Amino acid sequence: MTKYIFVTGGVVSGVGKGVTVASIGRLLKSRGLSVSAVKLDPYLNVDPGTMNPYQHGEVYVTEDGGETDLDLGHYERFIDTDLTKASSVTTGQVYSSTLLKERRGDFLGGTIQVIPHITNEIKERIAEVGRQSGVDVVVAEVGGVVGDIESLPFLEAIRQMHREMGTRNALYVHVTLLPYLGATGELKTKPTQHSVKELRSIGIQPDVIICRSDRPMGDDLKDKISLFCDVERQAVIPLSTVDTIYEVPLILEEAGLGEYLVGKLELPAQPPDLEQWRTMVERMKSTRKQVHIGLVGKYIELHDSYLSVVEALRHAGAYNDCEIVIDWVDSESLEQNGVAEARLGQVNGIVVPGGFGSRGIAGKIRAARYAREYKVPYLGLCLGMQIMVIELGRHALGNDEPNSTEFDEHTRYPVIDLMPEQRGVAAKGGTMRLGTYPCCLVPGTKAAAAFGEPVVYERHRHRFEFNNDYRQLLTDAGLVISGMSPDGRLVEIAEMADHPWMVGCQFHPELKSRPTRPHPLFREFVAAAKETLREGEQVPLPIGDVGG
Ligand code: GLN
Repeated sequence: MTKYIFVTGGVVSGVGKGVTVASIGRLLKSRGLSVSAVKLDPYLNVDPGTMNPYQHGEVYVTEDGGETDLDLGHYERFIDTDLTKASSVTTGQVYSSTLLKERRGDFLGGTIQVIPHITNEIKERIAEVGRQSGVDVVVAEVGGVVGDIESLPFLEAIRQMHREMGTRNALYVHVTLLPYLGATGELKTKPTQHSVKELRSIGIQPDVIICRSDRPMGDDLKDKISLFCDVERQAVIPLSTVDTIYEVPLILEEAGLGEYLVGKLELPAQPPDLEQWRTMVERMKSTRKQVHIGLVGKYIELHDSYLSVVEALRHAGAYNDCEIVIDWVDSESLEQNGVAEARLGQVNGIVVPGGFGSRGIAGKIRAARYAREYKVPYLGLCLGMQIMVIELGRHALGNDEPNSTEFDEHTRYPVIDLMPEQRGVAAKGGTMRLGTYPCCLVPGTKAAAAFGEPVVYERHRHRFEFNNDYRQLLTDAGLVISGMSPDGRLVEIAEMADHPWMVGCQFHPELKSRPTRPHPLFREFVAAAKETLREGEQVPLPIGDVGG
């Protein structure tokens, strides 16, 4: 039988609840237990796929093509397991399916209410994660903060589940913040007390309180929280801000959280094995050579928009024994003459990540041109591959007309075009080419060397693709097709000949990178970027106006 750990948030959002949940998963996994996780998001969108990255950060795509909350990325990276779309539940999904059932007549005669119909639907979806995965423990995170109106049905659902399952099979963890008051120089527990009071008013008494703070928390505060919130002293877990998120499992382990959880839930646990994890964290924290990576995007003010890309770079950095310093480059800023040379002249490697819409495209094309001309290692992720192709098309034809039909529907040279199966698709939600597809590697290419296997499975999220009508033009210009769909129709990876390392892929390798197992393309990209350090500083030559 699957046991459940329900995690709620107190005081404010953004304190790293997702990382904490993921870390709990790692502590259990390190004890030989099988673990899954589910995120319960109270917003009304069916999934975050239609949301602007500024609203919600990156959209994390699961193997089965779910467009999900970015916390699922933390869960997969920390627990090292592949989740499914069942692990991302939103109010939108819960209401849609309940209303569908109502229209179908499933509740005929009944009045449909939040309790029990909506709460039943939530419980059913939480239980489904356990059923589907058959794991020992599911960690279920309620998004938002206790006190939000919209999260109430979720809290009521976990209250009912906890009651039905009993205290040996389910427990509550509350992740809260202790604010620091500069004037008196102390951490305050009152907001935590209030948040627990709020939880209790809806029938939830936390078993564990994890206290996030920017400064170390003293024992006196532990006593105070234990007393006022009625939680065992050993279950008040301090968690002050750390350099790398991958340290969190080690800190929680040190504080005794792993032992406490398996004890309370009477889980058949082995002694924890966190050795590999510890080695990885030590590598990340040690002083190493710095490799500067220019991340050229248009949502750079919100770093969460590129969360998995940044994490995948850090994994590759730990592997290659170097520290990744991200240089956030606003793609629109590169549209002014001279800026690309000034900004990109400082970096050891360039990443152009995924994106949608024409804003910032011209700047990304300049970045790709810079990488090609100055032989700077380049990694293009989905849109970043398309950009690389457009740029090369412009170079080959000597004009700036080649484009993607996403940005210019009537371009004379649609080197990137809408996929045939996307024609006529009007609805925006969940309609892209989504999830895992096989990719056959072309022997002798950089991509094949990186992967070291003939067929790989990668996750996609796009509507546009490489247009094979231009294959000849582009390969004559130096493009090497290095990965294709098994039927040979879709170009999934392309790279530049006569370049140290310039590779673009139509999929999102960042989603499959793990801290102890970096993705091969990120690993080799960072290795190539590190290589430029040995060659000394790159001195950019002035180049003229760049097309696009
Ligand atoms: N906008 C492009 C497409 O739809 C790229 C998508 C992406 O980068 N995820 O094909």
